[in-house]
Amino acid sequence: MHVLVLNSGSSSIKYQLLDMSGRRRLATGLAERIGERSGRLVHNGEDVGTDGFADHEAGLRAVLDAFAERGPALDEVVAVGHRVVHGGDRFAQPVLIDDDVEKAIGQLIPLAPLHNPANLEGIRVARRVFPDLPHVAVFDTAFHQTLPPEAYTYAVPPEWNVRKYGFHGTSHAYVSRRAAELLGRPYGEVNTIVLHLGNGASVAAVRGGRSVDTSMGLTPLAGLVMGTRSGDVDPGVLPYVARSLGLSLDEIDSALNRDSGLRGLAGENDLREVWRAVDGGDPAARLAMDVYIHRIRGYIGNYYAVLGEVHAIVFTAGVGENDPRTRERALAGLGRLGIAVDPARNAAPARHARAISPDGSGVAVLVIPTDEELEIAEQTINTDGVVRNPPD
Ligand code: ADP
Repeated sequence: MHVLVLNSGSSSIKYQLLDMSGRRRLATGLAERIGERSGRLVHNGEDVGTDGFADHEAGLRAVLDAFAERGPALDEVVAVGHRVVHGGDRFAQPVLIDDDVEKAIGQLIPLAPLHNPANLEGIRVARRVFPDLPHVAVFDTAFHQTLPPEAYTYAVPPEWNVRKYGFHGTSHAYVSRRAAELLGRPYGEVNTIVLHLGNGASVAAVRGGRSVDTSMGLTPLAGLVMGTRSGDVDPGVLPYVARSLGLSLDEIDSALNRDSGLRGLAGENDLREVWRAVDGGDPAARLAMDVYIHRIRGYIGNYYAVLGEVHAIVFTAGVGENDPRTRERALAGLGRLGIAVDPARNAAPARHARAISPDGSGVAVLVIPTDEELEIAEQTINTDGVVRNPPD
């Protein structure tokens, strides 16, 4: 039983083919710079020569050609799973895509103007290319639809019709479930704080498998300091800079999304570069990392109080999985909360899910590589109408 997972961006299509019987990855690839002459396709690590792709449809057809010429065969694919960033209030679960669902994803574009249009284009193209397969949309926001009103409500005039949605839900779902497995306890009994620290970054408080709070908001701009995004700022900053610097709303929006975060403070959005600058004695980089870590610690305290009892703190994504320094500093001095990091375990390079807290710690500190594609594939085959389970 194979599932093709597609993640369509504005100029790229990332894809994976997974065998769900053995949970094996059979192929991975990326068609990028769609719409440009320099467009290229990397299939299973091999650069496949192309003359570029005019549009997403040409990109996806090139991907199919690569499968046909280089394998593996696509004849056992039972469904296509699509990553969709924003599902609004409407989608709390993955959903089998029909014309109505397509329309609803389109109606959510104002909430995710950078992402949903590309996700939708990918869906339209894939439905044309694979008309006989079921297509499933898996939403980044869906896992956080369990947030209680006190966590998702902004204290602003109700007619604004805005609320917190939260993102990275597929990752938070996968990682929190894996955490329970690693602890050998039922998912429904485990409380976790998940730190998804990549270029984009968010924290989730997960109580017994349900997300109860998360750091991103109406948009993916809120919360932690990110590669290029500011995370939390006083909303009063916006009118202040609009008036004092004469910036337009679009200019402010763009600055908060692209020129802020680590890039804004240190001139670099890649954490490895920022650490290099810190080691070279750059005071701006040092301040950037202090702010980055301070923000993470603030959310850990916040979500510790939200959950009351915490069984595991989990680090995932590019920084969370690979950067012992951030992990160590984020949790330093929290022994009173039952939180400790074993220096040797933390420093040991490893790719697999593991504990980095000392044995017998009150709170397990875990590093768990995220796997959003596997989670999308899993949710795809479990969606009603995709694969009929044989009766017991
Ligand atoms: P995205 O949000 O784009 O999916 P990733 O989860 O791939 O991002 O994370 C990218 C981030 O991970 C980059 O900021 C990069 O610096 C950071 N990163 C990757 N490897 C390391 C490492 N060994 N040490 C510190 N940071 C790392």
